[in-house]
Amino acid sequence: MNKFRDKLIQFMYGRYGADELYKFMTAVLLILLIVNIFAKSLVIGLLIAVIIVIVYFRVLSRNTEQRRKENYAFVQLAGKVKHFFHINRLRVRDRKDYVYRRCPECKKTLRLPRRKGQHTVCCPQCKKTFKVKI
Ligand SMILES: [Zn+2]
Repeated sequence: MNKFRDKLIQFMYGRYGADELYKFMTAVLLILLIVNIFAKSLVIGLLIAVIIVIVYFRVLSRNTEQRRKENYAFVQLAGKVKHFFHINRLRVRDRKDYVYRRCPECKKTLRLPRRKGQHTVCCPQCKKTFKVKI
């Protein structure tokens, strides 16, 4: 058993391996496999095959710099998607007490107390002041 393990370590030496994009693609792959058990679609089957090829290509690739760039782009995009859902969850949760407005200068989303009227707001990030009507 140790001989197999050593051979595997030797084979994977210098190869990229698993990362966040690998985990995401594997999760998508599992979901598509489960869906295709019931749907039995040729299109989903082809999509599964393409994803498997891409996953193995990335894991076994020796071009680690390019794989790292792909993973970095994926992590950045995933962070934006997570932030979008996080902000919208907070908007729904706090809708009675707060309003959310975007700073016109730096585009940061600010949480402001829900008080009727016109207010002057100072952005904590860029320190720009702007008027807000609630
Ligand atoms: Zn700002």
